[in-house]
Amino acid sequence: MKSHHGAEPSKLKVIGIPEGLMIFEQKQLWKKFFESLGCHAVCSGHTTKRIMNSGIELCCNETCLPVKAFTGHAASLCGKADCIFIPRYSSVCSHEKSCPKFCGLPDEVRISLNNKTKFLEIDIDFNRDSKKTQKSLDLLAGELGRSPKTVRDAFDSIVKPGLAAEVSPNRSCSYEPGAPVLAVLGHPYMIFDRLLSMNLIGKLQDAGYRVMTPYDVRRSVRRKNVAPFLSDSFFETGLDMLGGAQALVNLPELAGMVYLSSFACGIDSLVLEIIEHKIRNGRRIPFLKITIDEHSGEAGFDTRIEAFLDMLPNTESIRREKIV
Ligand code: SF4
Repeated sequence: MKSHHGAEPSKLKVIGIPEGLMIFEQKQLWKKFFESLGCHAVCSGHTTKRIMNSGIELCCNETCLPVKAFTGHAASLCGKADCIFIPRYSSVCSHEKSCPKFCGLPDEVRISLNNKTKFLEIDIDFNRDSKKTQKSLDLLAGELGRSPKTVRDAFDSIVKPGLAAEVSPNRSCSYEPGAPVLAVLGHPYMIFDRLLSMNLIGKLQDAGYRVMTPYDVRRSVRRKNVAPFLSDSFFETGLDMLGGAQALVNLPELAGMVYLSSFACGIDSLVLEIIEHKIRNGRRIPFLKITIDEHSGEAGFDTRIEAFLDMLPNTESIRREKIV
């Protein structure tokens, strides 16, 4: 019997998709990919306290918060899917590399979950060895009982165009002059995840600000603004933040910047310093850096945000307008 997408049913019917790290923004791509191959895709949903706590229990202390969250998402799918999909992102485009934690993610999660379920992976390495990707797609084809050509075609038409898209599928990239802007910098799976970010964006919007992020800037503009750091010795997410921050800092309505960083993130520790240095030596706008881990409390977090907003020159008038 054929699935509703017209493909023959797959050997592995239900694929679990953990909604963390890079899949946080790309879940629709992967869902569509597996469904086009006749599988049923189950996503883990929003990060909850239960997911976070299980990730914290399963991972070693030194792991960054988003990897702990991802592991919790994967654990929540055990028993709900025939296998869990964890891509190995070494590089999504030539001359760029991904964070090393992305490269080792399938191994890290497999060990943390003690191999208690079946895993599927695809190697994505468009910088050094795109043949690796083809090989892993062929292995996947065997697992799913599909022809290698079917799987390669589905990957090329559905996933590949979305991996390094100009505009993130969930972001607008539109800019209209208006209310004062606060730029929020950080990895997308941190700043757009309500639980990990403690709803930072919502809180700033409630205070009357328009929030923009590096992902509201087109990818080509982010790359254009990142010089002199554009090289294959820098990590892709770092380039996004550096180039995005450099583009946003020129907005006339910019009132301040908030950098939300995860404890133990090597990329943040470097990028944050470079951005702060650039701001201190250029347009001196208020800049708040917040580093969080699983022990960070929301009350202390809110106090820091409040204090920062109180420091901004036009906060009072914005708040009065909002009340009226
Ligand atoms: S970029 Fe930072 S936060 Fe993201 S996975 Fe790597 S170390 Fe963790």
